[in-house]
This record gives sequence, structure tokens and C-alpha cells, in this order.
Amino acid sequence: MRLLVIGSGGREHALVWKLAQSPHVTRMWCAPGNAGIAEERLAKNQSLVECVKIGAEDLPKLLAFAEEKQVDLTVVGPDNPLALGIVDLFQKNRLRIWGPNQKAAQFEASKAFSQVFMQRHGIPTARAGIFSDVRQGREFASRLNGLCAIKADGLALGKGVLITETILDAEAAIQEILDGRKFGEAGSKIVIQELLEGAEVSLHALCDGKTARLFPTSQDHKRSHDGDQGLNTGGMGAFSPTPFMTDAQVADTGRKILEPFLRGCAAEGIDYRGILYPGIMLTKDGPKVLEFNARFGDPETQVYLTRLENDLVELFDSSVNGTLDKVDLKWSAMASVCVVMASGGYPGNYAKGKVIAGLDAANALPHTKVFHAGTARTAEQILTSGGRVLGVTSWAKDLRSARDAVYAAVEKIHFDGAHFRRDIAAKAL
Ligand code: AMP
Repeated sequence: MRLLVIGSGGREHALVWKLAQSPHVTRMWCAPGNAGIAEERLAKNQSLVECVKIGAEDLPKLLAFAEEKQVDLTVVGPDNPLALGIVDLFQKNRLRIWGPNQKAAQFEASKAFSQVFMQRHGIPTARAGIFSDVRQGREFASRLNGLCAIKADGLALGKGVLITETILDAEAAIQEILDGRKFGEAGSKIVIQELLEGAEVSLHALCDGKTARLFPTSQDHKRSHDGDQGLNTGGMGAFSPTPFMTDAQVADTGRKILEPFLRGCAAEGIDYRGILYPGIMLTKDGPKVLEFNARFGDPETQVYLTRLENDLVELFDSSVNGTLDKVDLKWSAMASVCVVMASGGYPGNYAKGKVIAGLDAANALPHTKVFHAGTARTAEQILTSGGRVLGVTSWAKDLRSARDAVYAAVEKIHFDGAHFRRDIAAKAL
């Protein structure tokens, strides 16, 4: 099989790495990829994965490339091409592609769409209202005493949520998003949710339109600094499994959310094929959904795929074909921990072009894989080229050993200004 993977982050490196292990794959491209992806080899014939300089949002060029190379299956990593309708475009041109179509991707692309859907189909969620009028929004926020999560409707790089605890702050936030266009057009409409309390967990489920197969637990670390201090980031690390939920709780949460989700999709003619990744608050009244994502989390992908024992090509095939009911997901009993090494200053301004040393030494450690995110290569060297640079991942018999192993690997890697959290998975021990 000839595969094309779309995207360039740590998530896509993990996808490429796992897909490359499949004996079905004879050739693989990644658009645009990164320096680590360009070093991956296929298990089948040892040929290198080829990175092609086409942006993940350049749909016409991606289509032309897939047609020219006679790609058998395209795998979409990031949310933007999904929201732009890459799946519909490829399908219209009779190309097989894995990921939700544009209608299904609305669960991530529009928080208002998701909120209405959840209310209509009895999916447990926060009390909420949808507004494009500042005055009406403020009225609703004051009824919640200002204890609100105020969210831009559209895609805002994961940053479009403001948490407020007073009426004054809520009023200011509503004004900033709706009138001030703090998040641009993504904020022409807002969802205001009541502020929920509890432990936050996320789930991943692979869907094929009718069946959803739940992944084990994982937890990410969104804040930039230790002790969950600092700014929100794309994710500074993750681990799986977590001790905070038992398998029975995961299954129960999955049932409460995924069953009405799939019924609702059937009722509304939404064909959801791909990963569904809901963010959930475990409140004293049970689990409640905060939001849906329509793709894999990053860095959750890195810990999941280092534990997954199935052939990922076969899983994606089943997701596309609608045959997931015949497949069981198999997970290694090992625990996996990923520590993100970022450029100093991220998620604010940061320098690029720093030489990265020690990658080979880290990769040589047992059960360790350094996934690249923001990296680029020159003839001789690998340089930093983004905010999140590497996702160093180790797996071992338990969380403590995996955590020790991953930090030993991180210690081997150096670049100017490197920043990483030292407490990934610490609270699970
Ligand atoms: P979202 O992108 O909707 O998941 O929101 C980003 C973050 O804001 C979440 O990971 C939560 O930490 C927080 N958040 C969102 N909605 C709520 C809510 N209704 N109550 C409490 N915290 C929330």
C-alpha cells in the first residue's frame, strides 16, 4: 500500500512511525513532515519516508499529489484540513482517506454546533448558551454569577477559551471576543458554559460511522511550567495509563457519551469516521463533556501509539470501511510517558534555528523514541524550527520506570534555551 500522511507535528511523526511498522506499507509520503519523519524507514522494504513540501492546508496540491502518486490511503493528522473539507474533496475524486468529513469535523470546528448537538441528543455537558449579541451574553453570564467558560465558536489554535469567576471578568471577556474580535472571525459567535468543577480527563475513540472503539486513559499537561503554572500550550507532556480512572470508569464514561453521540450522528446523517477526542470533566454529578476534538491529541498520540499493538494501517482501514465491529484494540501493559522539549519562550515568542545535539544517544536507549515536532534539517544538522520541538517518549513496565527512562533520555538532548517540564506524570505516582 502507498500511504500519504498529512501534517508536520509530533502527532504526525508518531503516526508515521507506527504506520511504517505495518507490513502492508510499501511507500510513504508525508506532507509537509519534519526532520524526524524524513528519517523513518518502512519495515517492509527499508525505504525512507519521503517528505514533500506541500502545506497541510493546500488541498488542491495535496489532491494532485495523491492522484499522481496513486496513493492508496491518505491519513489526516491536524484539524484544519478536516475543517476545510479535505476528506470530502478526496472522496469526490475517488481517493481513500482517513478522517472525519467536513460535516463531522464540525464537532471541533464549531463549539456552538457541538453544544446544540449535545443538548439535542442527551450527551451530558455543561449548562450553556450560544450568543452573538453582547447584551444577551452578559445576561446569561450574570445568571451564572460570572462563573463561566466563554468560548469562541470557531477554531482558535486551542486558545479560544476564557475562564471567568466574576461578573465583571465575564462581561469583559464577552466584549473582547464578540466586539473586540480577540479570536478574529472564530469569535463572531460564542458559547458560554457554566464553570464545572472536577478532574479533567480526555478520551479517544476510533469511530467508523457506527462503532466506536475506546482507547485507554491518558492525561496531558497543558500549562507551560511545573505545577500547572504558566500559560496554556499545545501540550507539554502526556502519560498513559492514568491511575485516576479505572477501566470500569472509562467504559462507563464511554457509554454515557459515545452511545448518545453515535445515535445522534445516525439521526442527523453525520458519518463520523476517524478519531473522536472529547474533553471531559468528572463532576460530582457524573462526567460532562466540555468540548469535542475531531483528531488525535498531541502529545497523547505519542503515548498511545507506543502502547498500541494492532497494525495501525488495518485499524484505519476498518475505520474507513465501517468494519471496526470486527476489530479489538490491543494495548501493551506497559506505561508510556512523553516529555515535550520546547523552544525557550514558548508559547510566547521564541528563537528558531538552534542546533539540536544528542538525538542519537537518546534514541539508542531501550524503549525510547524521540518524536520530532518543530525540527528542520540542513545537510549536517538538525535545527529547531518551532515552539514544541521534540516529544521524547519512553515506555516501561510501570509509570515510574517509564518516567525515569524518559527523563534520562531528555538529559541526553541539548539545544540553546530548551525548556521542558520536570513533573510530567509526577502526580500519578
Ligand atoms: P476546551 O478547549 O473547550 O476544552 O477548553 C479549554 C480548557 O478550558 C479545558 O481543558 C478546561 O480546562 C477549561 N474549561 C473549558 N470548559 C470548561 C467548563 N465548562 N468548566 C470548567 N473548565 C472548563
